[in-house]
Amino acid sequence: MLTYKNPKSKPCEVCPNLFVPERMGQKVCSPVCALKRVRLQKVAEKVETKRRKEALKRISELEADCRKIVQEIARIRDRKDGCISCHMGPNYEGVWHGSHYRAHGGCSSLQFHLWNIHKACEQCNYFKGGNREGFIQGLLVKPGYGPDRIEWLDNQPKSQKFSREYLYRFKAVMGKRLRRMRKWK
Ligand SMILES: [Zn+2]
Ligand SMILES: [Zn+2]
Repeated sequence: MLTYKNPKSKPCEVCPNLFVPERMGQKVCSPVCALKRVRLQKVAEKVETKRRKEALKRISELEADCRKIVQEIARIRDRKDGCISCHMGPNYEGVWHGSHYRAHGGCSSLQFHLWNIHKACEQCNYFKGGNREGFIQGLLVKPGYGPDRIEWLDNQPKSQKFSREYLYRFKAVMGKRLRRMRKWK
């Protein structure tokens, strides 16, 4: 490590040190920085691979990614509640779902709208088709919800197209929110 300026010295690619290369093409000052450089390159490759993968995704795949993020956000938001559609309390040991009031297949405009997605037990979501009657009862008594919001949900258009740009942005913003919420107790 050199702290003075030597005419043959050059800056290390990893740390702020200057060093005098001992070999052709030496880019780092020390074995420690060499290791760090390999690690940084691996991270950069990973980021690039992920970027390419995202660029190749179909719109439907990006929408599915967005739904998955929002479903988990809804489950965390409702973590202290029981099932929206039935009597199952928050201590239910089974699998919790982020259940759509209007199913995403029949209503793409609300597929990742948080008002439309609520925590529900597997029984209701999988085996009772969302248990619509119970879902309405649940929304009627849920704080902040009620007849007006149900009517609003019922009135949203069946289909809506989302652009890639919208979905990328949505994924990034909501993904960040989800990572923060995962730390909630
Ligand atoms: Zn260095
Ligand atoms: Zn249920």
